[in-house]
Amino acid sequence: MREEEERVNTLEDLGEQAKGCTLCPLSQSRTQVVFGAGNHRARIMFVGEAPGYHEDLKGEPFVGSAGRLLSELLENIGMKRTDVYIANVIKCRPPGNRNPLPEEIESCKPYLLKQIELIKPKIVCTLGNFSTQLLLKKKVGVSKLRGQSFQVDGYVVVPMYHPAAALHQGGLLVSLKEDFSYLKTLLEAGIEPTRVSEQMTLF
Ligand code: SF4
Repeated sequence: MREEEERVNTLEDLGEQAKGCTLCPLSQSRTQVVFGAGNHRARIMFVGEAPGYHEDLKGEPFVGSAGRLLSELLENIGMKRTDVYIANVIKCRPPGNRNPLPEEIESCKPYLLKQIELIKPKIVCTLGNFSTQLLLKKKVGVSKLRGQSFQVDGYVVVPMYHPAAALHQGGLLVSLKEDFSYLKTLLEAGIEPTRVSEQMTLF
């Protein structure tokens, strides 16, 4: 991807490039690449982990039950999916929905970073451990970071639980609703991050 990076000026270009990607073995098992969806000028981006069964079939992120929960949570704070941009750390489904491997994340990371660069969101909500750890470059679980916001290069990272985790563990749903309330508070307050860490300067 890096060789072609200079030719990529829009999300459409980048999406086209990703469609033919064979940089990691997930290209052999996917039905299709799930690049991302939503508003190309969104102030808020959500970044999950990887496509699941339904996403792989439909080619869109967060279209299964976790996606419905995400839509509900957005509506609860007065937003629609078309207001935001939604993507994942890796763009192809891992077989059996296993966790992404470090080498798969490494191969796919440039797509996400370029998406962020092109969209220029003010806030990136990281859903779950994988996106949180990638964008904060910190090996800390999301449970210790949620409820806070972190300034990185040009945007604020707001770690949250992943909606799929909240579906499987009822207790987390309450926490995830709190995460969205926190996001609403941040938006109302003009997006001032609560923490700035010198370890979180990116790339
Ligand atoms: S997961 Fe990412 S790096 Fe791997 S084949 Fe798909 S688009 Fe390419």
